Amino acid sequence: MNTPTDTYKHKGQRRKLASSLLLKNITDINVLNAIEVVPRHFFLPKDFEERAYEDNALPIDEEQTISQPYTVAFQTQSLNIKPGDKVLEIGTGSGYQAAILASMGAHVYTIERIEKLYNKAKKILCTYKNVHCFMGDGSMGLPENSPFDKIIVTAAAPKIPDSLINQLKIGGKAIIPVGDLKNQKMILINKTDENTFTEKNLGDFRFVPLIGKEAWK
Ligand code: SAH
Repeated sequence: MNTPTDTYKHKGQRRKLASSLLLKNITDINVLNAIEVVPRHFFLPKDFEERAYEDNALPIDEEQTISQPYTVAFQTQSLNIKPGDKVLEIGTGSGYQAAILASMGAHVYTIERIEKLYNKAKKILCTYKNVHCFMGDGSMGLPENSPFDKIIVTAAAPKIPDSLINQLKIGGKAIIPVGDLKNQKMILINKTDENTFTEKNLGDFRFVPLIGKEAWK
């Protein structure tokens, strides 16, 4: 596989994409900077490289998708990511969201259930020293590496998996699209105490399904 190059044209396209996200209410400067820095075209199949900086979800292998840049930015902004945060991502997919988190200084633990996607993403993500890749069912989280400051789920769950709440630190936040297979509500969770958390509905989104023991079968 040839390593793609990152050109001035790509950088210009990223700057434009970041400006368009600002107009859509992405105001966290660290998120916008990450969008400007991370070469999204590295994470896409060659055929879609040209379209990497459109604000659209695009197909990756195995009938999965790389999330729309707006969605990546929205989920990241909602978690209020700080350098040093220990973040669990469920659904590595292309690896783009993990790279955004890593470039913001987070320590990222990302898990993917499809081996082919895991292998591909791992090759790019190994260039980030603060990303750890895992393969398996992430619907039960990653107990051996818990607790986490933040948890981001990038696939649609039928309900909030209990394991994820258990693996969140007190004061931690999780963001997870919950609903049926067609439409989901983006739910932001704040863990306020060992056994209590609040839920906030941040609006409608659409993701590929989270498949696993605490998710769709
Ligand atoms: N964050 C990704 C978007 C991935 S799409 C990106 O930036 O590209 C959702 C991904 O979740 C798919 O790759 C899918 O295979 C994966 N997935 C679905 N159920 C999962 C599970 N239980 N554990 C881990 N990954 C899962």
